[in-house]
Amino acid sequence: MSIEYEVVIGLEVHCQLKTNTKIFCNCSTDYDGKAPNSHTCPACTGHPGTLPKLNKKALEYAIKAGYALNCNINKYSRFDKKNYFYPDNPKAFQTSQFEMPYAEHGYIDIKLDDNSVKRINITRIHMEEDAGKLVHSDIADESYVDLNRASMPLIEIVSEPDMRSSEEAYKFLTKLKSLIKYTGVSDVSMELGSLRCDANVSIRPKGQKEFGTRTETKNLNSFKAVARAIEHEIERQKDLIESGGKVIQETRLWDDNKGVTKSMRVKEDADDYRYFPEVDIPMICVTDEELNKIKMEMPEFPEEKISRFVKEYSIPIYDAEVLSTEKDMADYFEIVAKKSNNAKSASNWIMTEVIRVLNEKSIEIDKFTINPNNLGELIKLIDSNVISNNIAKKVFNTMLDDNREPELIVKEQGLIQITDESELEKIIIDIINANPASVADYKNGKTKAIGFLVGQAMKMTKGKGNPQTLNKILIEKLNQI
Ligand SMILES: [Zn+2]
Repeated sequence: MSIEYEVVIGLEVHCQLKTNTKIFCNCSTDYDGKAPNSHTCPACTGHPGTLPKLNKKALEYAIKAGYALNCNINKYSRFDKKNYFYPDNPKAFQTSQFEMPYAEHGYIDIKLDDNSVKRINITRIHMEEDAGKLVHSDIADESYVDLNRASMPLIEIVSEPDMRSSEEAYKFLTKLKSLIKYTGVSDVSMELGSLRCDANVSIRPKGQKEFGTRTETKNLNSFKAVARAIEHEIERQKDLIESGGKVIQETRLWDDNKGVTKSMRVKEDADDYRYFPEVDIPMICVTDEELNKIKMEMPEFPEEKISRFVKEYSIPIYDAEVLSTEKDMADYFEIVAKKSNNAKSASNWIMTEVIRVLNEKSIEIDKFTINPNNLGELIKLIDSNVISNNIAKKVFNTMLDDNREPELIVKEQGLIQITDESELEKIIIDIINANPASVADYKNGKTKAIGFLVGQAMKMTKGKGNPQTLNKILIEKLNQI
């Protein structure tokens, strides 16, 4: 009989803060696409004798992220030196927080597939600086050092080993991203490198209390990669144990193309870094007043938004949940709902047409070309019977390209709905005369024929006929025959 295993997952998430300058110097953080080492100074390149100075904005942003993840913010915290040598780190230590992190004891609630809520605890969040980057040459057997990224402000979020499947890890990350994005302190984009995640995975026989030996997997560049790497690691560890081997504590690298993890190095313990206090930076001390000010600036988070949307706009809870995942999406919805004065229709358009386009183009709502006011206007045109739903979809597609006001497009392309009953009646009579077989079908009780005949009439009006009116007139006329 094979043993049943329980999976234990903890995540370490690095998140880059969107400040204008680096964490300990005044170098600009806007180096994307700029020349290597063009955004550096003696401090962030580790010259001896330079003094680091904590960026107040980085601290404020870090605290906001801490509150978003329901953490206690410590009034006193401290930076430490994490000693290690690597060519992208000329100081030979990383300035980080070890003994006294600025935030602890947080949590994220995730909704499982059976709609139950599971709380994933967050051990701590600490502030630290990023390292530079090594650029490996394609042509020569050489590597170059680019220190533009050195001393970029980071927070590292360490979860408790509370997750029991790759799905839970995926949901945790999705919620974490959403919450931090709501605060605006980071882009939290794995693609852009402003969100990075390492996964600690171990397995143990079900019922056993002690944890199994864990591995840490790095080089995960999307949420999907995180889930796949965890799945792979679970299987690898099971195979290893069942064939009589032992899992060793090590750092492994995920190869996304091959779908496997590979050993990178045997894991260092905290002892190996010989942490000691960074005495060049005064201890951080935040007052109640400062914390209260930051609390006042916190946004309305998804949970509060969901209940407000349900109450204020009378939309289903499912709609409210989808619309509140991203703050920009929620803002977009509110503008469309207010402009159109029809929240349910606003929600329907966003949940179907808008999200379809976002998925097709792999973009987020901030890159969506239709201005929410114009989408609101489009819904108004449907509600006031100026255009039909079908025509509205055509106008929507035109708006995608040029984002002009829908009214202009409707006028220019002559799309105004025909509501004049005498005009529609003439069309119906023509359709009845041209389709005797369908008329006979209807007379023989095949009501499906109605759909076909209305379709023909819609075709004749180039989609501009009002389908309800056409339907009504058709039935009247058929019943007179
Ligand atoms: Zn600098």
